Amino acid sequence: MNQENIRVRFAPSPTGPLHIGGVRTALYNYLFAKKNKGKFLLRIEDTDQTRFVPGAEEYILEAFKWCGIEFDEGIGKGGPFAPYKQSERSEIYKQFVDQLLESGDAYFAFDTPEELSAIRKQFESEKKTFTYNATERNKLKNSLSLSKAETAELLENNAPYVIRFKMPENKVVVMNDLIRGRVEVNTRVLDDKVLFKSDGLPTYHLANVVDDHLMEISHVIRGEEWLPSLPLHVLLYEALGFEKPEFAHLPLLLKPDGNGKLSKRDGDRLGFPVFPLEWTDPKTGAVSSGYREDGYFPEAFINMLALLGWNPGDERELFTLDELAESFTLERVGKSGSKFDAEKAKWFNHQYLIQKSNEELATLFLPVLEQEGVETDFSKVVQVVGLIKERAHFVSEFWEQSAFFFKAPETYDAKAVKKRWKAQSYDQMAELKEILSGIDVFTSENTETITKAWIEKKEYGMGAIMNAFRLLIVGAPKGPHLFDIIAIIGKQETLERLERGLNKLGKKES
Ligand code: GLU
Repeated sequence: MNQENIRVRFAPSPTGPLHIGGVRTALYNYLFAKKNKGKFLLRIEDTDQTRFVPGAEEYILEAFKWCGIEFDEGIGKGGPFAPYKQSERSEIYKQFVDQLLESGDAYFAFDTPEELSAIRKQFESEKKTFTYNATERNKLKNSLSLSKAETAELLENNAPYVIRFKMPENKVVVMNDLIRGRVEVNTRVLDDKVLFKSDGLPTYHLANVVDDHLMEISHVIRGEEWLPSLPLHVLLYEALGFEKPEFAHLPLLLKPDGNGKLSKRDGDRLGFPVFPLEWTDPKTGAVSSGYREDGYFPEAFINMLALLGWNPGDERELFTLDELAESFTLERVGKSGSKFDAEKAKWFNHQYLIQKSNEELATLFLPVLEQEGVETDFSKVVQVVGLIKERAHFVSEFWEQSAFFFKAPETYDAKAVKKRWKAQSYDQMAELKEILSGIDVFTSENTETITKAWIEKKEYGMGAIMNAFRLLIVGAPKGPHLFDIIAIIGKQETLERLERGLNKLGKKES
């Protein structure tokens, strides 16, 4: 295939928020287009008006914007094949369904939903499953079983109808999938799918095939859940005389335990988001969490998704979007489903977090500090972030990890006091306060050298001093290197915290 002609698409139906599996499908399409210098377009498949959900289309656009996935054509972009929204293309499909009626590949069916459900029930009572197919169609109410005159009369009287595909009888459809290889299906197991509905709109199958053809799509890359539709699509391409695109059906994203597909309905039930952005259900008001609101960096989210189903062929795990596009091939997409791993998702975020400059992280941290009522200068925040970022997965953890840099402890961890505030601690800390107050150059190195020399000289024991000292400065047995902390909070604050701690904890009776 000429690389110039590579054209792929992502074609969501706006039936709700985009699932992360959908984002991954779009991502693989994007990467494939980039790698092959092709075009990537966004088409909205909204022919099923009964499933339309307000806000879903806007959500989809916002999600891709956040992810950094850009389209070359389509919704929000325009292009030579506009409109890219199927509900605005209804005129276009009519001629193709007429073509199929003309060639005898489609027919009118007048069975009402009530009639079909009664037949279905009848079949069930005989422990059989009803399929609208070659065996049954002649017993039903359609233009194949009725005479020409009867059909014409029904149409004239505006009797409600659908148009069905006339599935060939007992034919083996041979398909090639770029991930799965050769796939064969006998049409015996397929039904006469509805292609066009009484509301004048096509169903997904017809609209999808027609649009992929008209929009000159070279590769259909989509989720494995569409593989069962492939034989029908292939037959439609043939019946319409269209050249077929290549097909690649991507393996599913699975629940962490590998038991079944990760679905939209999983919501927050499994303890992690299944949507890129937070979503509020317009009907129920129920809120489902999103990666963006949970504090993920879009680069980390994308990197994590890319590796759920594709591998670069070596041990590398960290890729920018450009690097992914450089390395991506469909050959390296696996055949089996990929289990979602929530811990790994956090790991990716941590990797991106530690790569960011302290200035960038400090900027992200500032609003939290403001909310906590902290007034401080930016250079201090930059220093603090540098000391704590190795321990965090998210910026949202920074406050918990660093509050003591900005506020003196109000309470002292009871367990630590019991264990670490000893009979001699009061006098030793009072002495340390004197030592520290005599240090003019209050750097981490300087205070550490002088304090340690004092401890050694007095034979106080490093552990005992450092534990009590940390308790007075931090309030709990946590945090980075203590001398780094006091260098950042400064001499005056260090002395004040020692003074306050001495007063609060007092002398312990031996
Ligand atoms: N509209 C379908 C969906 O919602 C598109 C399937 C396809 O890519 O062909 O997923």
